[in-house]
Amino acid sequence: MKITDVKLYHLSIPLKKPFKTALRTVNSAEETVIKVMTDTGEVGYGEAPPTSVITGDTNESIRGIIEEKLKAVVIGEDVANIEGILNNINKAVVGNNSARAALDMAIYDLYGKLYQAPLYKLLGGYRDEIRSDLTISINSPEEMSGDALAAVNAGYNTLKIKVGKDIKLDIERVKSIRETIGSGIRIRLDANQGWQAKEAVHSIRKMEDMGLDIEFVEQPVKAHDFDGLKFVTDNVMTPIMADESIFSPRDCFTLLQMRACDLINIKLMKSGGIYRALMINSIAESMGIKAMLGSMLEAKLSVTAAAHLAAAKKNITMLDLDAPSLLAEDPVIGGIKIDGPCIKLPQGPGLGITDIKNLIDIN
Ligand code: MG
Repeated sequence: MKITDVKLYHLSIPLKKPFKTALRTVNSAEETVIKVMTDTGEVGYGEAPPTSVITGDTNESIRGIIEEKLKAVVIGEDVANIEGILNNINKAVVGNNSARAALDMAIYDLYGKLYQAPLYKLLGGYRDEIRSDLTISINSPEEMSGDALAAVNAGYNTLKIKVGKDIKLDIERVKSIRETIGSGIRIRLDANQGWQAKEAVHSIRKMEDMGLDIEFVEQPVKAHDFDGLKFVTDNVMTPIMADESIFSPRDCFTLLQMRACDLINIKLMKSGGIYRALMINSIAESMGIKAMLGSMLEAKLSVTAAAHLAAAKKNITMLDLDAPSLLAEDPVIGGIKIDGPCIKLPQGPGLGITDIKNLIDIN
């Protein structure tokens, strides 16, 4: 199976309601989709949502680097040599992680098609069903409590609460949600870099004293502030997860060597795809650190790729793959089956995706 071409498309999907974090507000997902064409007629699908506030990528930069550099690296290559192709992709450019991720998952899709097996089975095959949390956007405590209750009624037993905008109000938000949904439902927080190290310690300790029972807190401080992250980890009992601080396997190694976090969040759009996400998970596992698999605001295509990785690996014990549930439409034919928090892996070869609707051809 030889790669003959890489085609680029735009995909636009409206959201059910605006997605709000400490970093941004988004009203619709505007993304790049790629099709990697082969001489056997098989197509590999890849998706890259541009998240400039986190990865620095835009649709223009994603498409530009694929057209100018990455296309030439993969065309003519034999999919059976996946190790060689992925090494060449990762050697060809630095940064541009979302573009590399789109190409990486499309190559893995083809690899599964070549050997006629679902990707999660080729990667480890640990489970065929996973459970995701649901994200509650930052709003007033009342609105967030209402959203949280609706999520619990829809069957979610784990909620990810976005905080990090105003520390006093953040505690009010979490208190109000905990009072509304009661105990027994897991609450994890994501501050998206919104706190200073000392105010993070202060607020997390306060929430501990109030008995709000927080499972973990994700990325309390700025991405580059590894020392600040360690300060928070060292000074609270609640587990601390690194998200925006970890892009590369090297970031993971450094943070874990410093003992700067208790948990890590892997995302394909940060790692540059499955190949390097596997390295990150292995580093974490070797240090006894559990991983969550998360996503940006993505459609079901790249979330299906993430789900294959998550289902394959024992060390990935937490899932934040709710992005398709936040979208008003699902243009992806095949892929994962989502029923509230339950995600079932598809049994078709590769990613198990057969088509994508509403693609705008930009070749
Ligand atoms: Mg996060």
